[in-house]
Amino acid sequence: MRELAWIVLAALPALSQSGVVQTESGALRGALSGGAWSYRKIPYAAPPVGELRWTPPQPAASWQGERDASAWGPLCPQLDGDTAVGEEDCLHLNVWTPAPPPASPAPVMFWIHGGGHAQGKMWFCRTCGRSVIAQVVGQGKDNVAGIASALFSSISDHSADGWNTWALYDLVAAVPESFRLRAQKLMSGYLRLEFDRRGGERLTIERWGLANVTRRKFTVAEWLQTMCEGSRHGARTSAASVHGHDAALGAGRLRSLAAWAGALRDAMGSRSVASIYEGCVWECTENNKLYAVQLWRTRKSEGLLDEVVARCECH
Ligand SMILES: [Zn+2]
Ligand SMILES: [Zn+2]
Repeated sequence: MRELAWIVLAALPALSQSGVVQTESGALRGALSGGAWSYRKIPYAAPPVGELRWTPPQPAASWQGERDASAWGPLCPQLDGDTAVGEEDCLHLNVWTPAPPPASPAPVMFWIHGGGHAQGKMWFCRTCGRSVIAQVVGQGKDNVAGIASALFSSISDHSADGWNTWALYDLVAAVPESFRLRAQKLMSGYLRLEFDRRGGERLTIERWGLANVTRRKFTVAEWLQTMCEGSRHGARTSAASVHGHDAALGAGRLRSLAAWAGALRDAMGSRSVASIYEGCVWECTENNKLYAVQLWRTRKSEGLLDEVVARCECH
């Protein structure tokens, strides 16, 4: 997978109008069609054949001169009905990128096929600005087509009540659809979803694992002050209860020059600045995880923090 990512990232910045890109393995010549350059059959690892069969992937061999990247590579070995098709030498990648090249880096979407006994569906929803990828992979006599049909038709990517559900592993939360996902972070035991909306209002939802070890000598109020941004904004904390657990609420305002500079930059074009800070931290004793929701907003409270906290599932 590392090789896979490397080739995509290496290829895109080097893109020129001529359709020739330089990768660390050599130059590729793409094909122009329908407003996009395509680069096909890019080797991302050595063919897993002979002695390399069932061994960790080895780097792809490099080449001299320009490699023609206009034709598809072979399918991976699979059954077409009862007939075996494809070749083992199939560790190739296909990359599409807009023509002419975008002025600034564009998002990169990966598509990893599900295999032979599988069905997949992918779509981009303009309403919530999210891409959805769904795959069903079966074994033996599993009715993959039937399950896929039922599953795909049951997926709704945005809700009807104006709140979008977001999930990162088993962290499930909801935010108003006016907020867009700005960043996400996943480290061992730590998850973070970061949202913003017009006017520079920001919302973050975080979760730490092993709360009994992570929090150890801190109270939840101290966690809000030290591990979250409570103290930076002079937040006063008060005790509360969330989903039946002890919680700390914090309320403050942007204080430091740096915080104001950031808020002013984020508020560009808007009359108000997101200078009001609110935070909430609670520990779920049922699943031993620690949660924090923080909000930087412009106006008087709309009860937004409470609502996000209420919709953030813990146990
Ligand atoms: Zn949607
Ligand atoms: Zn809980």
